[in-house]
Amino acid sequence: MQYYSLNNNTTKASFSEAVIKGIAPDKGLYFPEHIAPLPKSFFDTIETLDNIEIAYQAIRQFVGDEIPETELKDILNDVLSFEFPVVEVEDNIGTLELFHGPTMAFKDVGARFMARCLGYFNKNNDNQVTVLVATSGDTGGAVANGFLGVKGVDVVILYPSGKVSDIQEKQLTTLGQNIVALEINGVFDDCQDMVKTAFLDSDITDYRQLTSANSINVARWLPQLFYFLFAYKQVKSKGKDVVFSVPSGNFGNICAGIVAHKLGLPVKQFIASTNINDTVVRYLETSKYAPKPSKATISNAMDVGNPSNFIRIQKLFDNNFEQLKHSFSAFSFDDSQTKEAMKKIFDTTGYIADPHGAVGYLGLKKQGLNGNDYGIFLETAHPVKFLDVVEETLNTTIEIPSQIQKVMNKEKKSYSINSYKELKQFLLRK
Ligand SMILES: *Cc1c(COP(=O)(O)O)cnc(C)c1O
Repeated sequence: MQYYSLNNNTTKASFSEAVIKGIAPDKGLYFPEHIAPLPKSFFDTIETLDNIEIAYQAIRQFVGDEIPETELKDILNDVLSFEFPVVEVEDNIGTLELFHGPTMAFKDVGARFMARCLGYFNKNNDNQVTVLVATSGDTGGAVANGFLGVKGVDVVILYPSGKVSDIQEKQLTTLGQNIVALEINGVFDDCQDMVKTAFLDSDITDYRQLTSANSINVARWLPQLFYFLFAYKQVKSKGKDVVFSVPSGNFGNICAGIVAHKLGLPVKQFIASTNINDTVVRYLETSKYAPKPSKATISNAMDVGNPSNFIRIQKLFDNNFEQLKHSFSAFSFDDSQTKEAMKKIFDTTGYIADPHGAVGYLGLKKQGLNGNDYGIFLETAHPVKFLDVVEETLNTTIEIPSQIQKVMNKEKKSYSINSYKELKQFLLRK
């Protein structure tokens, strides 16, 4: 499989090159040259296949011959070692729980898949890659955990001091080994700016191979398509039309869902549900793409003003606005609507949704479902990751799961960084 840059379709890369570089030299996002649909028999018999086989059939064309079947299946076995249940919360509405992984965030699958691919490519050489990533909370923990102990990979995570939750900070700062946490005196945008500057700084890039571990990287983005296949497998016997509502920030997850649709997955409608960071919602209304600086909300993993993967979504619809609007909609909700939804779901069903999942639920309601539709909203994080707001909104207490309990008792280790100059010194030192 070849990938090309969305800035210039003559810039090509193999899967391994795309994974190692993260972004094309011309700063474009990599995009697969072909997406070949899976045979109809795959969807006809999907309920008889286990998750590893489903994932293997779906991802193999994107990996090509660069990772042999046995090794690719080993990677998938490792990555997909937990459940992805669809839990019914109302008649004809279910939630796809994506938070049963090691850091209880849906980003675990992508981060683990990318880490194991890089580990495979580095198996027989002495290459060293540095994953440099800025986090506002959830990404960092999943990346740190996914890359822990992977040969040939150093991970440097920048996070804004005092701006992530205690649980999130512990998940970033207690692992050790090849994971280093840098505590930045600033806000998330400062962390992101420093990372971007470092990628463009040849003093640094001449000295180390940098790569990103956000959903720009194809190995983090594409495996998310598994979720949609796993959900379909569980609800197929209902014989209904499936509508997915995806809580969206950088739009990587929903974009992977659309790739699953391109593979032949029957989906009636994709709903991108956002908080007040509504760039895509406004785009669908006006056909003008006008990004804005991000605003802080209680669903903070979606506080993104300029979603990096939207360009891939446009490409998947052949850059045709009418075609996009046909099976893709987007709605925005503010924090008070989100809290109301969390309360309503809890009061009527007893289910505890986190703020991101609640935004997804609202998207289904706003779209409106008919009698033959089955709506699925994605639960992208365990409610414990947003403990304060969930407990306060629902006036209840949440039991802390064992994965989280374990890190809470470990000791934090981080380096404090006050300027880009200090970051640069740090990256040139090690
Ligand atoms: C990252 C994240 C999202 C947004 O996913 P995108 O792929 O960036 O759209 C939603 N919810 C949670 C909990 C996240 O961590």
